[in-house]
Amino acid sequence: MSTLVYSHPACLAHEPGPGHPESPQRLVAVLKALQAPAFEALQWREAPLGTREQVLHVHTEDYVDQVESLAPQSGYQLLDAGDTVMSPGTLEAVMRCVGAACAAVDAVAAGEARNAFCATRPCGHHAETDRAMGFCVYNQAAIAALHARAAHGWRRIAVIDFDVHHGNGTQHSFWRDPDLFYGSSHQSPFYPGTGARHEIGVAHNIVNVPLRPGSGSESFRAGMQQELLPALRKFAPELIIISAGFDAHALDPLGGLNFQDEDFHWITRELMAQAQESAHGRVVSVLEGGYSLDGLASGTAAHVRALMSP
Ligand SMILES: [Zn+2]
Repeated sequence: MSTLVYSHPACLAHEPGPGHPESPQRLVAVLKALQAPAFEALQWREAPLGTREQVLHVHTEDYVDQVESLAPQSGYQLLDAGDTVMSPGTLEAVMRCVGAACAAVDAVAAGEARNAFCATRPCGHHAETDRAMGFCVYNQAAIAALHARAAHGWRRIAVIDFDVHHGNGTQHSFWRDPDLFYGSSHQSPFYPGTGARHEIGVAHNIVNVPLRPGSGSESFRAGMQQELLPALRKFAPELIIISAGFDAHALDPLGGLNFQDEDFHWITRELMAQAQESAHGRVVSVLEGGYSLDGLASGTAAHVRALMSP
């Protein structure tokens, strides 16, 4: 069974502005890394446009209307008090992100591949139901989870997030539903300030593994093995979605953790093993952060190599 990659040139046309860390060059680096001979067996697919109905699984109608009406014809439009910016290319880019994640779910549901990686940007995990935040407009990982439920009848869906930042948006959307699981390792204290251990959702369906600045492989793997993975096993997801951020990489200029490429490979294999147990191997991974072009490229390569291995 093969691994699919979804991407689209429109994801390069989202321009948050000069000097912004979430630059189109990030996706260029990822696509280039996946052109290496080791990735010849990947099956590439063009990301379709997501639908309004898919977006509304997570976001409010008012918020979607606001995003659509603010989308600029030229120049830039700030979406939040911080650094989430829309350019003329942003609306299509975020709809390709949503479309990629949902199409990837459909493809693994149909048995067209065991797993899939969405090489798309911008990231999504900070976006809450009714607000943009932290470079994120729509939360494609959370949307894909609810799409999986609506379209394929699974109940128990897990999103696992190893981005250096806590995915406050996904946690916010999953908090009240005992059949949705959100597990995250992230630097703490750090942006966005959420993700404490005591944040556990309505039914221990949220598992947060905060890591002190400077933490590396050992703390990451210990936290995963002792806390997150046992809880995930107990939850027995029917689909695992990965919020795959690579800003915990030692090379990353924003993150203060010290993950190595092998750590991304390791956690991917662990999640695949769990998917084998409870989800017929089904894994959909979506790109989140990662701001060192080298760290992003090598981390993504290690992650996708793991997805492709038997
Ligand atoms: Zn991040």
